[in-house]
Amino acid sequence: MQETIIDKDTRLLVVSAHAGDFIWRSGGTIAKYIKHGAQVSLVILSYGARGESNDLWNDLNQTMENVKKIRRQEIEEATKQLGVTDYEIWDLQDYHMSVTDQDKERMLRKIREVQPHVILTHGPKDAFNPDHELVSNFVFEASVLSTSNGVRLEDTKRSKQSSIFGFEPHQAEISDFKPEVIIDITETYEQKVAAMNCFKAQKHLIDYYSAKALIRGNQARRCSGNNEYQYAEAFTRFFPYVGGTFN
Ligand SMILES: [Zn+2]
Repeated sequence: MQETIIDKDTRLLVVSAHAGDFIWRSGGTIAKYIKHGAQVSLVILSYGARGESNDLWNDLNQTMENVKKIRRQEIEEATKQLGVTDYEIWDLQDYHMSVTDQDKERMLRKIREVQPHVILTHGPKDAFNPDHELVSNFVFEASVLSTSNGVRLEDTKRSKQSSIFGFEPHQAEISDFKPEVIIDITETYEQKVAAMNCFKAQKHLIDYYSAKALIRGNQARRCSGNNEYQYAEAFTRFFPYVGGTFN
């Protein structure tokens, strides 16, 4: 695949349902974009306090407030490892998540404010995670609406349609996931590992996602013939590739 140029004019928006998703599924890609000067904005919709903090709840005296506090610290440390400075946490409830009309407007505003070339978020199918499926549709809908001049929102300007890419779900095959785009993360893989290590409630996932990066790296080499690719992250596309030539 032809290398796409990333520079200071590149704008990437990442929307993560829970605290850890942006790391497991796109941490290497985020760090790579930042390393090459892109503007990266991150929205974390929830702390994942109910659904993705199991280890913390082993403590019988645990409280919701404390779980969120720990997760907030972990997010802070992990974003530092990736170089992310522009992030916000909406603190929606997770498991199960729902979005209000206000949340929909907020996402629309965010997209019009960032004017992203690329949006990374959850793909439409995740066999074990209804929150991820909800977020997929939530972001897709806001992205499409953001392009319409008739959708009036004070102090916002319509945006061009962003290219949207779906994260790899945890249980890829069971969720009918097939890589459609594979991004080489060799140069930022160590940053991804450092960021994964910040999530104490999900230590069991680190080996899993390290193995995943190796497998996707192998596929990156096989599909491209470029033997420098060691680690990679895979995504699906929401829209077809469009260009003046094949890529
Ligand atoms: Zn999640």
